[in-house]
Amino acid sequence: MFKTVNALVLREVRYKEADRILTLLTDTDGKLTVKARGALRKSSKTAAATQQLTYSEMTLFGNRGRWTVNEASVKEAFSGLREELERFSLGAYLAECMEAFSVEEQPEPELLQLGLNCLYALSRALCPAEKIKAAFELRLMCLSGYAPELGRCAVCGKEPQEPALSLDRGQVCCGACGYAVGERADLTGGALEAARHICTAPAKQILSFQIGDDALLRLSDASERYLLRRAERGFSTLDYWKRIRNTSGT
Ligand SMILES: [Zn+2]
Repeated sequence: MFKTVNALVLREVRYKEADRILTLLTDTDGKLTVKARGALRKSSKTAAATQQLTYSEMTLFGNRGRWTVNEASVKEAFSGLREELERFSLGAYLAECMEAFSVEEQPEPELLQLGLNCLYALSRALCPAEKIKAAFELRLMCLSGYAPELGRCAVCGKEPQEPALSLDRGQVCCGACGYAVGERADLTGGALEAARHICTAPAKQILSFQIGDDALLRLSDASERYLLRRAERGFSTLDYWKRIRNTSGT
């Protein structure tokens, strides 16, 4: 049985001499594990289209629940990611998050769209990496059923003053009310505004907000810790990106 899908390659693992095992996020079938035979051979026609962080049209052949890549052509190579290790490593973190928060063979078109939009912005350096990362993390939480409640303070019910995000409860609160909500990440007024935008804007506009440097630092810290809390695991790609970032001094 053959089928054609549009797929983002989340991960590739070398297998035997020249094969690749791919973890894909597809438009019609959600997350899929497929084999690309001979993809590492120099003569391979599928080599480019089966690389990690490439968006490709693939014809898959299925036999007893196992899928093999029959043909593949690149739709979007995100070539800007391959020009700079720091950008690529952040892209790999986004991919690891998509893999962690998706389910095999369950279509998640909004997740795929989020990933493609953020990788595109990262590849073209349309805005700071921290901003793309924070928007991706928060929006991913919304798509995964963990949308934080960013309205009134969870404790006193007023518009939050010196706002903070409760990591356990996923609710915003005032700095002064924070004693009641467990571990929290401090925000600023600007960071809270940006978080509200990311959680409610149409998919294509999640990066269309202005934010100051200090607010972005707070937002980035809060969104990352909130995601890690929900994932209940670490991400080696995130640790790697931070090491690269510190080394390059930006
Ligand atoms: Zn309060």
